[in-house]
Amino acid sequence: MITLVRGFKDILPADTALWQHVEAMVRELLEDFGFAELRIPILEQTDLFARSIGTSTDIVEKEMYTFTDRSGDSLTLRPEATASVVRAYIEHGLYAKNPVCKLYTTGPMFRRERPQKGRYRQFYQINAEVFGLHDPRADAELILVLMTCMGRLELPGIVLHINSLGCPECRSKFKGALKPFLTGKVHELCSNCLRRRDKNPMRIFDCKVPTCKKAMLDAPSILDYLCETCQSHFETVKRSLDRFQIPYQINHRLVRGLDYYTRTTFEVLAQALGAQDAVAGGGRYDGLVKALGGPDQPAVGFAIGVDRLMELLAARAQSFEKRPHLFIAALGLRARDTAFQWVQDFRIQRVRAEMDFENRSLKSQMRRADKLGVSYTLIVGDRELDDGAVVFRNMTTKEQENVPVQDLVELVVLGLHFSRMRAPRDKFFCSYFLVSGVLFGVGCQVSGVRCKKH
Ligand code: AMP
Repeated sequence: MITLVRGFKDILPADTALWQHVEAMVRELLEDFGFAELRIPILEQTDLFARSIGTSTDIVEKEMYTFTDRSGDSLTLRPEATASVVRAYIEHGLYAKNPVCKLYTTGPMFRRERPQKGRYRQFYQINAEVFGLHDPRADAELILVLMTCMGRLELPGIVLHINSLGCPECRSKFKGALKPFLTGKVHELCSNCLRRRDKNPMRIFDCKVPTCKKAMLDAPSILDYLCETCQSHFETVKRSLDRFQIPYQINHRLVRGLDYYTRTTFEVLAQALGAQDAVAGGGRYDGLVKALGGPDQPAVGFAIGVDRLMELLAARAQSFEKRPHLFIAALGLRARDTAFQWVQDFRIQRVRAEMDFENRSLKSQMRRADKLGVSYTLIVGDRELDDGAVVFRNMTTKEQENVPVQDLVELVVLGLHFSRMRAPRDKFFCSYFLVSGVLFGVGCQVSGVRCKKH
């Protein structure tokens, strides 16, 4: 048997309803905050990622799915979305259409990391990016969107970490202080970090090796090296978060795994996830648009890791499953034929109805209805058709009532719609349903409408 590629996964029908719910909720929220969707390709030129993410990052050094295509071009499955969004922003001159451009995109990313719980080689992200705003309130607004999203999903044990990485000048001063500190730690750092010590020492803050983490505990803080402008930017971000009553922790070790960030960086962590506890992350990347050949436009963005959101929400997956509303148990040739028509009519009217095509016993059909978890079952045999009424059974209360066959689909649809609007008790729904049937019949008599039955 051919199986999944290591680190890749299927998302099964039992889970997709929750995925759809979360994606729809985030989409709606982003659109309310003025974001428009951008759809970008999965494949890009390798250079795009090398130039944006940084050549001495884990992603570019060892995690990209890169190959040479038949025409000799080096292509890469996107490991993240920001680089592609920036490319599209420049390539289509989106900056010229609107000085402030808010974009979101969703889809799979590919990184050849060591697979483990919460870490996949294909994973899904929802990305939001704002271009054209230097103002620190843009950073705070973006964090507000992210935290509103976490709040609406009622995610347990969520913590927001924020930091400022300053501008290139602050960083250069900071690296000056970091290097001598790292010299004193050479015996505690892993070979990767030793290699990065000269090329990109700030990356060492991101190393997950426990000895490196411990060695960095008393490292100097970037926040002590911020210039006045970066300092004031960070203060305004914090003040705005306070105004929105968004709790946060300042984490001066938060550098994120990509090189393009400047000033504000942030990450949302969830303890319940264990080792891979980052649910979302982002920050400001003011130099990237220019570095990729575009105008000097500031930008700030975030990426939500959807797989990890789903892990936090897994216990709720069942409640989002889209079960059928109604099952029609039909006995006899004529009844099955009528039920076949009703099932399609219900579906066209947006009532999820199911039936058995095979001629099974009533008991086995009721078992199937139970298994499907429907709220109501219609039971119809050839005799019921002759009598002009079928049995309508509430699967929760087990109450049964007779319902007229005439205009049955319209009546049930109306009843379901009414019950959804007013959320009445099932009993009330049944009664309403019956009363409607009777009134309909009486109406036909009184008005003289000649329908099939009256
Ligand atoms: P990043 O692009 O590295 O800033 O990641 C943003 C978010 O994507 C993280 O906070 C994670 O939730 C998620 N993420 C990153 N890498 C993976 C992965 N290999 N598997 C699953 N989720 C991931």
